[in-house]
Amino acid sequence: MRSWSIPVGRLFGVEIRVHLTFLFLLFFVWSTEAATQDATAALRGLGMVGIIFGSVILHELGHALVARGSGVPAKGIVLLPIGGITILDEARAIPDPVNDWKRDIRIAVAGPLVNLLFAGISALVLRSVAPALFLNAKPLLHSSALLRSLVWTNVYLGLFNLLPAYPMDGGRVLRALFTRQMDPVRATQRAVRIGNVFSILFMMVGILVGNWWLVMIGFFLFAGAQLEERSAMFQSVLQSVRLEEVMLTDFVTLSPADTLEDALDKAVHTLQDDFPVVRGVDMAGVISKQRILDALRADGNGYVQAAMNRIFDVAAKQESLASAFRKLAARNLSIILVVDEQHLVGIVTLQNLMHSMALLAESRKLRREGLD
Ligand SMILES: [Zn+2]
Repeated sequence: MRSWSIPVGRLFGVEIRVHLTFLFLLFFVWSTEAATQDATAALRGLGMVGIIFGSVILHELGHALVARGSGVPAKGIVLLPIGGITILDEARAIPDPVNDWKRDIRIAVAGPLVNLLFAGISALVLRSVAPALFLNAKPLLHSSALLRSLVWTNVYLGLFNLLPAYPMDGGRVLRALFTRQMDPVRATQRAVRIGNVFSILFMMVGILVGNWWLVMIGFFLFAGAQLEERSAMFQSVLQSVRLEEVMLTDFVTLSPADTLEDALDKAVHTLQDDFPVVRGVDMAGVISKQRILDALRADGNGYVQAAMNRIFDVAAKQESLASAFRKLAARNLSIILVVDEQHLVGIVTLQNLMHSMALLAESRKLRREGLD
């Protein structure tokens, strides 16, 4: 998603990105309007696009700001031709199985609520400032009536997103309600099934009435739902794996008193990319192969002590892989030290995780087959 989008600015500390396909939409509107009518009409066409995407940004900001207020930072908002997506950094949220459903509902409802509030306020303002502007006149949405379109775009956007069609906001509310009675994976699956009914309905109605936007929305909802279902299953696997199942127990440590050349020498003889730095039994820091090389290149031979990263994190061996991922993400680390009663018993690195996850899946399968 990130690689195909370009940053266009920040609002309230949230990065706004535009997906490249969105530029085609702008070009499409401009060329069709400019070809058929005069330049003013083309400008009004673009004004209409501006209104739609301004309203989408309002909507996504609602999600992003309420999420941040609830402890889930937003990585950014991406604008697509069919709407917007707020990418939440859920790895940084501390899970609270008892109350998460309330948080999820707050975040989901915030988007549509901002649109409906905005529509209400702008309708009141327009009515008092320009009473001659009939808000209920037809057409409700058209580039020839931009102010009226501003109000109705927000009304439609708010109401449409409240449909219980996962992964739209109404569907997210539904999923959050399901999680009260079942585990997150089953709740997602149930919401996805209901969402799929809507997606197929959108596509069918779209084809019947010749509305290609509706067909496209249906298609993207369907695809989005499958992705969300898979990521929910992945999360539950992370939740069920304990660090002692995947940690490296045969690893090389360095001492703060080692010279960088000694350290490099040790690093050459192992596949490890990240090293714990220990003084006796105390953990002093972490250092990567790359950092050793960089320090050697920049300042010549010095001590590990000076080059190591003193910011690191430890995890108990019973902790879940999901919790290790949160710690890695929160401090931008590539290694977690695994401890058992304050003793270093293993390490988990990003590098070894992919490898060990595949092995773990195999060994679990073998064990299951052995039981049968
Ligand atoms: Zn939304």
